[in-house]
Amino acid sequence: MSAPQPAPGTPLLEATGITKRYGQYTALDDVDLRIETGRTVSIVGESGSGKSTLARIIVGLERADSGTVRFRGEAIRGRRSRHAFRRSVGMVFQDPYESMDPRLTIGEIVAEPLRAHGMYRDGGKERVRELLDSVGMHGAEPDAYPHKFSGGQRQRVCIARALATDPDLVICDEPTSALDVSVQAQILNLLLDLQSRRRLAYLFITHDLDVVRRISDEVDVLLRGTVVERGTAEQITRSPEHTYTRRLLGAVPAISPRQRHICPPLDTDDPAPRSPHDAKEDPA
Ligand code: ADP
Ligand code: MG
Repeated sequence: MSAPQPAPGTPLLEATGITKRYGQYTALDDVDLRIETGRTVSIVGESGSGKSTLARIIVGLERADSGTVRFRGEAIRGRRSRHAFRRSVGMVFQDPYESMDPRLTIGEIVAEPLRAHGMYRDGGKERVRELLDSVGMHGAEPDAYPHKFSGGQRQRVCIARALATDPDLVICDEPTSALDVSVQAQILNLLLDLQSRRRLAYLFITHDLDVVRRISDEVDVLLRGTVVERGTAEQITRSPEHTYTRRLLGAVPAISPRQRHICPPLDTDDPAPRSPHDAKEDPA
């Protein structure tokens, strides 16, 4: 029996009302998120704003206290639907070394999702080779261990693992921020290339404004567990409305002494001098 076709206009992934508390602390408060097929939604926010928690909840590594995640219109509830969903979504973490078991060979690491989903045929050798090649690891021996490789190469292995089950969505949680600057662009280019070749959707968590500009269709700005601003990459990076967004993007021009004369300094050390409001009180 095949799954019913979702109604036209149904997003690939839709999360609604996601709330997560750790004891008294509310890490996510009623967060909504929508990703269309083949598109990239970026989540930006300062450290501790709840970005990774949201990613972990969406991918099913953690449970929300309330809220619903729908994939192609179907709510993900219960073990079976979660397992099926996991096949359609890959995840790439910030630190490639921490996210892999160093006792496994890179071939075994890439094959992990294949095993988990019963897709591991004939030792999976051919598929592992194909996956390693697809991330630019042409010469790499599948029998080699991760410590033999550089940070960028390890992240390529993690990307190959994320693609193993041929997902429609890949969640990338700061995939370049632990890497050398010279390698960051290569990994980003790889992700963009894979997206166009495989029609992947990305949920992309990043701190880096240049990355946001390059890859995003839409940007959601997270502040203390709440989405305070949402827009196209163009809108958010060119004319952010929220003080917090402007601060995050460093988009607030320094005031020259002359301008200061016209616009007297505010009695605040908020680096966004145009608004007397605290970030929290700005219109979202
Ligand atoms: P970000 O990825 O945006 O830096 P996180 O999602 O990691 O933020 O964390 C959001 C908030 O939730 C932080 O204040 C963090 O300390 C808290 N938090 C995250 N995971 C846990 C946990 N397992 N137990 C308790 N608090 C947590
Ligand atoms: Mg994080």
